[in-house]
Amino acid sequence: MSARVLDGKRLAGTLQAEMAEEVAAFTTQHGRPPGLGIVLVGEDPASEVYVRNKLRAAAEVGFRADLERLPASAALADVLALVERLNGSALHDGILVQAPLPRALGAEASDQVFAAIAPGKDVDGLTPINAGLLVQNRATLVACTPSGVIELLDREGIPLAGQRAVVVGRSDIVGKPMALLLLHRDATVTICHSRTPDTAAICRSADLVIAAVGRPGLITADAVRPGATVIDVGMNRVTDEAIARRLFPDGHPRLALFRERGSVLVGDVHPSVGEVAGALTPVPGGVGPLTIAMLMRNTLRAARARVA
Ligand code: NAP
Repeated sequence: MSARVLDGKRLAGTLQAEMAEEVAAFTTQHGRPPGLGIVLVGEDPASEVYVRNKLRAAAEVGFRADLERLPASAALADVLALVERLNGSALHDGILVQAPLPRALGAEASDQVFAAIAPGKDVDGLTPINAGLLVQNRATLVACTPSGVIELLDREGIPLAGQRAVVVGRSDIVGKPMALLLLHRDATVTICHSRTPDTAAICRSADLVIAAVGRPGLITADAVRPGATVIDVGMNRVTDEAIARRLFPDGHPRLALFRERGSVLVGDVHPSVGEVAGALTPVPGGVGPLTIAMLMRNTLRAARARVA
């Protein structure tokens, strides 16, 4: 691979070490650590892993972190009551409801639950208030994954102002806030989605491509201008050997890993992009760890705002 590797894991470690000192100072000054309440409904295996990683990071930086579990059979009213309890808790500065919620709760459940979080405790930046403040460039609690991407680009010295950026994906949690953050940093931003004709041609015009789609290897080398920066937000667990073979040539260590374990974690960016791009985030070890670091930063911000 000729592209510079943008090491999100290392940066996340640095950020968390920096934060640990600030958290210790907060705890001394206020007689309690910043507190995070995590709501997990059901037993989705991927969510279990994400929540475990968040709890571990919270403990490492010195937070109080409480996992509030509800069974998959819980009613929407139970979830809303739990969020209401955490809204009123003196010990919790941040509330995170792990997505996805069980389908049985209904199509509107996520919107209702996220909207019920007190905006000052909304460390995922998903409430309509915080999403609206982001549109107006006045938000303090911004979605963690796109915040982590900006932090990485800044710390790597990659310029944004005047650059042409293409965001592939328009979800409320990644694509839209990502595009807004880049816009607020004076990039010229295009958003592509499932109905965009010829996303590859649009990506080819970009100085910066951000892929947040959920399709293994969607962004191929021919969609990337030589020297462009490529950020791979995708996290896809591939269990189909045909897909793994499309991504990795025979003899590649990741293909060997797939054969050993029966699955492999890949991004939305085809590995061959590493031969064309100027800089690229790996999967795993790129954007994922930064998402957690930004969750910690948002919780500390929320705690400071509550005691101010
Ligand atoms: P999502 O809600 O499913 O949104 C996917 C977006 O991709 C949608 O806007 C969709 O368009 C668009 N899309 C689908 N097929 C496309 C195509 N062929 N060409 C262009 N756009 C297409 O997913 P998400 O929550 O944003 O997550 C995206 C990926 O990031 C997933 O792999 C997820 O696991 C990963 N992720 C990683 C982190 C991390 O910490 N690293 C955090 C969050 C998410 P429509 O709107 O038209 O349907």
